[in-house]
Amino acid sequence: MNIDELFKIFNKLKVLSDEPFRRVKDEIDAELSIKLGVTKEKIRPWHYVDPFFQEAPPVSGIDLDQNYKNKNLEQIVISTFESMGLDIKDILQQSDLYPRDNKNPFGFCTNTDRRGDIRVLVNIDESVFWATALLHEFGHAAYFKYIDEKLPFILRFHSHSLTTEAIAMFFGRMTKRLDWQQRFLKVEQLENLDPSIKKMMQRQMLVNARWIITFCYFEKEMYENPDQDLNKLWWELVQEIQFISPPEDTSYPDWASKMHFSLAPVTYQDYMLGELTASQLQIYIENNIANDLFVPEVGLYLKENFFKDGALLNWNEKIKRATGENLNPRYFINQFL
Ligand SMILES: [Zn+2]
Repeated sequence: MNIDELFKIFNKLKVLSDEPFRRVKDEIDAELSIKLGVTKEKIRPWHYVDPFFQEAPPVSGIDLDQNYKNKNLEQIVISTFESMGLDIKDILQQSDLYPRDNKNPFGFCTNTDRRGDIRVLVNIDESVFWATALLHEFGHAAYFKYIDEKLPFILRFHSHSLTTEAIAMFFGRMTKRLDWQQRFLKVEQLENLDPSIKKMMQRQMLVNARWIITFCYFEKEMYENPDQDLNKLWWELVQEIQFISPPEDTSYPDWASKMHFSLAPVTYQDYMLGELTASQLQIYIENNIANDLFVPEVGLYLKENFFKDGALLNWNEKIKRATGENLNPRYFINQFL
């Protein structure tokens, strides 16, 4: 990962998203102020859905969860991948899908032996959250499964982890697509909700992007100069990038409660780069492979141009091979800003 290249992308994203983000945040604050009975000026980090303002609150008037009641999520995921010519049934069978006592409450996918023993752990219920997570994890799983088994062990893996996040995000985004919901959830009369769903997606992408940019700038400056007043630096960046008013007392290391700083250092940028790659892939596919994503040509394209080579190619060469150019934030920007 070239650090200058990375922060050039983040700078560009920040500048281009300043105005749209300001609008979205203003709307969110106005809604919060009514809901919680505080003036906008008094809103502090703890008033948001999560204290880091990573997630956007749902757009009022839509409840996507209701579309998942009494639906067979396993079958929906199988059918989604099958429509693209990707078979994930074998992985589903050996996965741990439902919640139980003392089970890890999150979700992940693991390539146990790089010889086809791929497993997913999730805790699904009838909600859009877990439907998205299930599609996301099976995106990782499909990538692992279709890596050329003739490659040596060390290369039978994804190239940079941003490339596998990109595929996972590409599939996770399905739950916000009108065509996917109509076809696989069999919900009708969604057209009138489409503008709200698009708005929700845009909100989520903007809120999330600004959070990730904050996190990465802080991390970079922390490693460059660890002896500075990090608590002060944290709240300055939060204010400057996320437009959030800091609490009155900023003497606590609030940033340190985000586990990624200590347990998964210097990985957070991959989520953003994954989103950018997912947009670039999606637009390329729609323009060059098939306008309808749910056809076998799309799976074939992904297998041949993205999955097969595993870690044989550097991440940016892989993106270039698949889309004809290196990672370019333009596609994400056109899609969501
Ligand atoms: Zn993931």
